[in-house]
Amino acid sequence: MDDIIIIGGGIIGSSIAYHLARDGRAGRVCVVERDPTYEHASTTRSLGGVRQQFSLPENVLMSQYGLGVYRDFATLMAVDGTPAPLDFRQQGYLFIAREDGLAVLEANHRLQRSLGAPVEILDRDALAARFPSLNLDGVAAGSFGREDGWLDPHAALQGFRRKARSLGVAYLDDEVVDIESGRARVEGVRLKSGGLRKAGTVVNATGAWSGEICAMVGMPLPIAPLRRMVYFFEIREELEPLPLVIDHSGMYFRPEGAGYLAGRADPDEAPGFNFEVDYDYFEAVVWPLLAARVPAFEALKPGQAWACHYDTNTLDENLIIGPWTGGLENFHVACGLSGHGLQQAPAIGRAMAELILDGRFVTLDLSRMTYRRVIDNAPLHETSIV
Ligand SMILES: Cc1cc2nc3c(=O)[nH]c(=O)nc-3n(C[C@H](O)[C@H](O)[C@H](O)COP(=O)(O)OP(=O)(O)OC[C@H]3O[C@@H](n4cnc5c(N)ncnc54)[C@H](O)[C@@H]3O)c2cc1C
Repeated sequence: MDDIIIIGGGIIGSSIAYHLARDGRAGRVCVVERDPTYEHASTTRSLGGVRQQFSLPENVLMSQYGLGVYRDFATLMAVDGTPAPLDFRQQGYLFIAREDGLAVLEANHRLQRSLGAPVEILDRDALAARFPSLNLDGVAAGSFGREDGWLDPHAALQGFRRKARSLGVAYLDDEVVDIESGRARVEGVRLKSGGLRKAGTVVNATGAWSGEICAMVGMPLPIAPLRRMVYFFEIREELEPLPLVIDHSGMYFRPEGAGYLAGRADPDEAPGFNFEVDYDYFEAVVWPLLAARVPAFEALKPGQAWACHYDTNTLDENLIIGPWTGGLENFHVACGLSGHGLQQAPAIGRAMAELILDGRFVTLDLSRMTYRRVIDNAPLHETSIV
C-alpha cells in the first residue's frame, strides 16, 4: 500500500513527487509513468520558456517561484554532491503589442510591477535601439521581462526525477488502466502489468491525458489535448541576442543553439491527439509572420520540427488543482496548463504537497484555481495565454 500514487511522471508529477518527499511527512510515494523515455510527453517537447508576464496574480506568483527554483536548480536538485545543470538562459521575454493591445499590456504591466516583477514597457524607439533586427511596422510597444528566459525542459524533468528518487520516491514503469473507488474515496489504481496498487491518495498528473484518467472515475474534466507544432530554422546572418518574442499575431520565436525555434497556435486546430507535423502550416502561416517581424528571417533554412499537445482547459485555459470536490475526496488533479506548465511546475508541486499534507494552501493561495470553479462554471481568464 502506498500513501500517495501520482499518475504521470512528467514535470508536474515529478515536481509534486519531489515536493512531497522533501517535506518528510508524505510516507510512501509512488509515481506511475508508462513511458520513461517521455517520447510523447509535453514536457520534453516544450519551449522551456519562463516568464513573469501574466494577467492573474496567481500565475505571476507561481512563475516567480518557478524562476527562483530554476535559477538555483543545479544546487537544489544536486544528488550526492553532483549538481543538476539546467542551462537556464535569462535572455528576456518580449510581448509585442499593436495599438489595440496596448491597454491590456499596460494593465498587466501594472500588476506585474506591483508583484515585484522586473518588467518594463518599451516604446518603439526603445525597442528599435535594443533589438535593431525587429521590423516595428504596426507595433505600439513591447513588454520586456529581463529576468525571464528559457531552459532545457529535459534537464528540468530529469533533475526533479533524480532528486525525488534520491529522497525515496519510487518510479514504476507501468500504465494505469483503471481506478478502483468506493462511494467517496479512491482505493487504488489498476496497472497494465496486472494487479491493483492501493493508495491513500491518488494524484492525476497526466497532462493532455488527464481527461482519460478522470473518465476512469467518472469525474467530468474540461481538458482537451490540442496539437501544437514547433519548428527549428537557421539563418546565415548573425543577429543581436534576441529574447523569446511573442508577436501580437500569436507567432513566437526564440534562439536555440545555432538557430531559432518558432511556432504559432492554429486557432482552427481540432481537439485530439495528432503527432503529425504540418509543414505546409509553417510555409503558409508561420514563416510569413516571422519574415514580417524580422526581415532576416525571410531567407531562413527550415530544419527539424515536432508536434505535441497542450492540456487545454476548455473552460478558461488555466490550471485546475486539488481534489475532486463533491466527488472522491482523495483523488486530486493538477492539469490544464496549456503552454505554461513547465515554469509553474515548481509552484504546483509545492501547492499539491501542501494540499495533501496540510489540507490547505499554505504559501500561495490557489483556491481560485481549484475544481470548484468548474462546478460553478465560473471561468478565471488569463489574457497572456499563448
Ligand atoms: C509546444 C509546446 C510548448 C510549450 N512551451 C512552454 C513554455 O515555453 N513554458 C512553459 O512553462 N510551458 C510550456 N509548455 C507547457 C508545458 O510543456 C506543459 O504544461 C507541461 O510539460 C505539462 O507537464 P505534465 O507533467 O502535466 O505533462 P506531460 O509532460 O505530458 O507528462 C504526462 C505524463 O503522463 C504519462 N501518462 C499518461 N497517461 C498515463 C497512464 N495512464 N499511466 C501512466 N502514465 C501516464 C505520459 O506518459 C506523460 O509522460 C509547452 C507545451 C507545448 C506543447
